[in-house]
Amino acid sequence: MPLKPVPGVFENPVILEILERYRVIWALGHAMGLMSWDSETYMPPKGVEERALASGELARLRQKLILDPELVKLVEKAERLEGLNDYERGVVRVLSRAIRIARSIPPELVAEEARISQEAREAWRRARSESDFSKFKPYLERIVEIERKKAEHLGYEDHPYDALLDLYEEGLRVKDMDAYFDRIIPTIRSTFEKVRREGFYPERHPLEEVRYDVKAMERVNRAVLDMLGYPWDRGRLDVSAHPFTIELGVNDVRITTRYEGFDFRRALFSTVHEFGHALYELQVDERLKATPIAGGASMGVHESQSRFWENVIGRSPAFTSRIKGLLDENLGFTRDYDPVELYRYFALVRPIPIRVDSDELTYNLHIYLRYELEKGLITGEVKVDDLPSLWNDMSEELIGVRPKNDAEGVLQDIHWSLAAIGYFPTYTLGNLIAAMVWKAADAHLKGFYTLVEEGRFDAIREFLREKIHRWGSTYEPKVLVEKALGEPVNPERFNEYITWKYLDLPRKL
Ligand code: MG
Repeated sequence: MPLKPVPGVFENPVILEILERYRVIWALGHAMGLMSWDSETYMPPKGVEERALASGELARLRQKLILDPELVKLVEKAERLEGLNDYERGVVRVLSRAIRIARSIPPELVAEEARISQEAREAWRRARSESDFSKFKPYLERIVEIERKKAEHLGYEDHPYDALLDLYEEGLRVKDMDAYFDRIIPTIRSTFEKVRREGFYPERHPLEEVRYDVKAMERVNRAVLDMLGYPWDRGRLDVSAHPFTIELGVNDVRITTRYEGFDFRRALFSTVHEFGHALYELQVDERLKATPIAGGASMGVHESQSRFWENVIGRSPAFTSRIKGLLDENLGFTRDYDPVELYRYFALVRPIPIRVDSDELTYNLHIYLRYELEKGLITGEVKVDDLPSLWNDMSEELIGVRPKNDAEGVLQDIHWSLAAIGYFPTYTLGNLIAAMVWKAADAHLKGFYTLVEEGRFDAIREFLREKIHRWGSTYEPKVLVEKALGEPVNPERFNEYITWKYLDLPRKL
């Protein structure tokens, strides 16, 4: 029995039948999402083994349901239909893609990847804690081998890495990323040198050392989320080792943060970052719920939303002024610093070996390093054996700092142990799109930073909802960006943004 039509959204009978069949896949995803949220927050430590077993079984079941012959037949039928609206075409696009991916990778390879990445994650943890790459090396070699095979199965036109990029960002290609990096790397480096000479943005700040009371900081985070408009009846804030956002439905989007007890900007901005991810999911058109297009368009577009709130809004003088009173009231020690001084702490610029702690200006250099190495691993030009020294040389040359050891260098990120090769570039893509959103918001919302300073975040939320959020994944990411922001991904917007923020803005403060 097909679902009832949703006027103007889902009307075609074939689409309605697809959506009806899809509902169980959605429900499975909902359950798996809740399980993974629980794993990171409240699950007792010894639950991990059975949880992994259960998740693996459900993931296999999900694949089976996606390849269900009846569903595949319906999707193929829908591919030939004419007169579908944008939402209906979105459903067909997302499912065709899922089917194509599930079909092209042999189940044995999927199982092998799952098994090795489970072992590799443990090996990576040990290797990192002992700062010894050789303990991780054999696992990474197997993972690279599997990812190369995967690329061959998926197919590509120009570059084998294209096939892997596409898994994380639909339609993203090496030729796109090469062109983006070519445009931003020189501007980042020259801006960085000027920032160092001018000295407004410090490398260190005394507030980094100041310890805070965790309860007080939690009050700050909750008050900031209130101010930004996080709806507590549709979300939660919990604590996890690595902050994340999880969408269980349009009306249940949860975030986590972490409290290290010092350097309070880390807890603050990770919360604002996750708010950006959450808002995207919370503002998807409710009529799309429980369908294949209910979630955000891609990793890159998602990251653009979190970065927009974290960096463009959060690390701004306007936002600093807005939350100054709240910080003084709850933390107390911030009273010794005026808003400009507080802003300098929020936006300090310091080249360091670790990506996750790096500043907005040098962050993309870290991604470029990984991007170049991953491309080389997939073509075979880079050998796993040579990674530690290549990593260190590139870090020194690009970022100006040489990691002290493997833990600080090649072993710092978890991604490769999860067989996630092709994921890193979506971070840079997110930063580029965030700068485009900055530009568009400035053009559409008169006095954008005045709105921030006055706490009128409703106007900003509505702008994002109307342009980007409400569509879910109706459009492929490249199409959405152009439709919402008036031009294809344009790295010059990022150059304009960092030049304005790091060189022009300090002169006006
Ligand atoms: Mg993120």
